[in-house]
Amino acid sequence: MGTDVEAIYQLMIERLNDFRQKRPYIEEIVTFCEKVLEAQREVQAEISVPPVRLDRAHMAVKTREGFPVLSREDFPVDRERSAKLLERLCRIGLGENPVLADGSKRLLEAMESGGVNLEGLFAAVVNDDEAGLEALAGELKIPPPVLKALAKLGLQPSLSASAAAATREVSLDGWNRPHCPVCGALPAMAALVGEEGRRHGLCSFCGTVYRLPRVGCPFCGTENPDDLRYFYGEDEDLYRVQVCDRCSGYLKILDTRKGGSVEALAVEDILTAHLDLVAEEQGYERKAPRLWGI
Ligand SMILES: [Zn+2]
Ligand SMILES: [Zn+2]
Repeated sequence: MGTDVEAIYQLMIERLNDFRQKRPYIEEIVTFCEKVLEAQREVQAEISVPPVRLDRAHMAVKTREGFPVLSREDFPVDRERSAKLLERLCRIGLGENPVLADGSKRLLEAMESGGVNLEGLFAAVVNDDEAGLEALAGELKIPPPVLKALAKLGLQPSLSASAAAATREVSLDGWNRPHCPVCGALPAMAALVGEEGRRHGLCSFCGTVYRLPRVGCPFCGTENPDDLRYFYGEDEDLYRVQVCDRCSGYLKILDTRKGGSVEALAVEDILTAHLDLVAEEQGYERKAPRLWGI
């Protein structure tokens, strides 16, 4: 992989260290994230996805019209390395909370005995096939969210590699839409970037960072100020949460002018779970999953 993806790992690890200093009470989750990142980072270097060959002229038209560059069905995935990473993630999971530990143990046993259809599992996650995932989870006796999270974490380096390859082929400079230009998924979290605070989103599926429309709810598209308001985190103006009364969605937004970086939003999203709770207590719901699926 190019240096870009490697640099993102570095930024995420640095950010985890900031959190460790600032909020010692979340040490456990910080350490878990570090272990996951280390495992992903190692595999990232070996990832080999089929080359993304795109007809540039055709793609330029597609992105101008707001269509994503890649469709989910042919999102290139390195199954072999994803499987290897999944096994390692299960070993990490064994030492975590009882639900994750039990799911990890069952999946590990199934992988060792050849009793799991990994191709089907990865396809279900990539294609957002909830019914397929539930069927596999039922066979394995693992709660579907646990199975999905483990598989998504295992696939992530592969998805990042494919997304990086696609964005090298097509210019996304003019992109200004709520969904991801690479895969079409909605943002997991957002950040204000640069002096003017331009709004960028982190794609909840492939991890691409892209320009979001300056205003409005990315989930229903309303720009009506009567539908939208913000609340702020208790300890800092580093975070704000945009809530929408039209679709009941909310979006956590990091102000990178005050700290953090847009590249590390995946871990930022996990470590600001308290803001999700506040939004949910007020009756709002998460419309796009975390990039890590946990
Ligand atoms: Zn995407
Ligand atoms: Zn909305």
